[in-house]
Amino acid sequence: MNVDCEGCAGCCLDWRPLTDADIDHEQRGNRRPLDGTANLVSLTRDEVRAFVDAGHGDALTPRLFTDDGGVLIDGHSVAAVDGRPVFYVGLRKPPKPVAPFDADPTWLDTCVFLDPVTLQCRIHDDDLYPDTCATYPGENLTLDVETECERVERHAPGQRAGQRLLDDDPQDATPLLGPAALGTKLFAHPEPDRLDGVCDRLEAGTLTDEDRAELVAVAAASAPGTGAVSEDWYERYRERARAADSWTGRAIDAWAAMGEVGQSAPTPQRARAIEDEDGAPPTPGWGNDK
Ligand code: SF4
Repeated sequence: MNVDCEGCAGCCLDWRPLTDADIDHEQRGNRRPLDGTANLVSLTRDEVRAFVDAGHGDALTPRLFTDDGGVLIDGHSVAAVDGRPVFYVGLRKPPKPVAPFDADPTWLDTCVFLDPVTLQCRIHDDDLYPDTCATYPGENLTLDVETECERVERHAPGQRAGQRLLDDDPQDATPLLGPAALGTKLFAHPEPDRLDGVCDRLEAGTLTDEDRAELVAVAAASAPGTGAVSEDWYERYRERARAADSWTGRAIDAWAAMGEVGQSAPTPQRARAIEDEDGAPPTPGWGNDK
């Protein structure tokens, strides 16, 4: 892929509050996410384990879906396989003060790993870098689905976005779809009763650390191909996720206490005190290497 991401990061943050256009593409069709996160980065089981093992269980969040023929939880008909609610695990997007497309600093939901100053990914060269990010937007092109680059080019305020998608060669993007995804990227919770209250809180954006740890642990304990859950692995990863205490979780709390999405925001440089001084890895800057 050949893309120009400098000054954009449109796939890493929710820039919808900067435009009046109707671009809520995830909230259409039969199956809709219960949460309002834009472009959730879905993780594989091994990636979920790696994030938890690295102490970043506090950076993860689940996504469940509504579905007409699903199981009833908190009054929601939730998508399920054999009566087991299915879900993804992705990266959290707290509000951060960011200024994409030369906009004024604004509180926007932003990937916990995006540096608000450089608009670059803090884990791009790290073993934790998610496959979903590495294959974006090639996977969309393979599936003939609009990319975030194209949305930005059409709707970014004042046409300041420039050209983001410089070619349309998907290269090695091989999406993981169908039954092979169960237990690998799509997970099935074995006991819907344990999710009482969770669906309401997911929809309201008020998930607790305990809620997140429950679903993260089920994902980490899932067997590829069947989605069967190992009780040992579940207990182990629930404890690790609950014990997470990293710069990611602290930054999410700090930003959330300061900002309201869509409102004017302080300079993104505040991230130097809130994230970098607390251990967040730096990004290289753009320089001549895009
Ligand atoms: S992990 Fe990095 S590339 Fe992926 S959404 Fe977050 S900031 Fe963007």
